[in-house]
Amino acid sequence: MLRLAIQKSGRLSEDSLQLIRECGISFLSSSYKLKTEATNFPLEILFLRDDDIPGYVQDGVADLGIVGQNVLEEADGAHLQVEALGFSKCRLSLAVPRGDAYDSVISLQGKSIATSYPHLLGRYLAAHGVQAQLHTISGSVEIAPSIGLAEAICDIVSSGSTLLGNGLREVETVFRSEAVLIAQPNLSAEQKDLLDQLQFRMQAVRRAKRSKYIVLNAPVEALEEVRRLLPGIKSPTVTPLAEAGWVSVQSVVEEDDFWHITSQLKAVGAEGILVLPIEKMIA
Ligand code: ATP
Ligand code: MG
Repeated sequence: MLRLAIQKSGRLSEDSLQLIRECGISFLSSSYKLKTEATNFPLEILFLRDDDIPGYVQDGVADLGIVGQNVLEEADGAHLQVEALGFSKCRLSLAVPRGDAYDSVISLQGKSIATSYPHLLGRYLAAHGVQAQLHTISGSVEIAPSIGLAEAICDIVSSGSTLLGNGLREVETVFRSEAVLIAQPNLSAEQKDLLDQLQFRMQAVRRAKRSKYIVLNAPVEALEEVRRLLPGIKSPTVTPLAEAGWVSVQSVVEEDDFWHITSQLKAVGAEGILVLPIEKMIA
């Protein structure tokens, strides 16, 4: 049995639960329960505050956890990471009041900075030879300058709208983060095997999300060009159409290349291009 700790309620919760479900693992969850057991995989899920997850995994109270790298690094737990998960991407940034002069990180010398990440910020400032007074607060960091608690802040940003709304300007990126899977260092052989199975499923889900299944019709003369545009996993599947001189081609494309490739496919004579989502993709 593996115990997986995820955030009870917050920005990581929904994507963490969705990832587990997309791995084909079923469980009942209700908002007041603090743990639940999967019905078709030897997995118990604990619902915790994200700050507690690295410590619980380090101590082996939970075997696995899903947490932001920002929280993991702050807790000195980077060695626990087994896989980056690609969601909850954000950055830890320094920001100053919009009207304040700012040239470089040196401008923060001797200033007071409010943050929930004293460890990460301290490391960054030390690397730049800057000394500042850090005020560690656990939330609502962005109001610190307007209430006179600090002259600058260091907090998590994704779009920047919260900073803007509080009259702040983002000036430096201290750390880039995404959600990661972490594991306790002393898993048993059976648990390692379960973790492998889980990672295998997670990778299949992520690979599928990045890819699309594409089906199209093309004149036989265009086949060479189409094959060049659609290499596929091994090579595309080509089947003849009932109409002579035409073939149906099936392949997989990366989401990022998709628009670029479809316009080129049309240009070489492809027609009836269908694009379908892929649910799982095993390499
Ligand atoms: P808890 O009550 O569990 O301690 P919290 O308030 O500390 O929750 P959340 O705001 O829910 O934490 O954020 C959890 C994690 O989600 C952060 O540590 C970070 O990794 C990520 N995150 C935070 N803000 C954003 C954002 N705006 N966009 C994307 N990811 C974010
Ligand atoms: Mg927290």
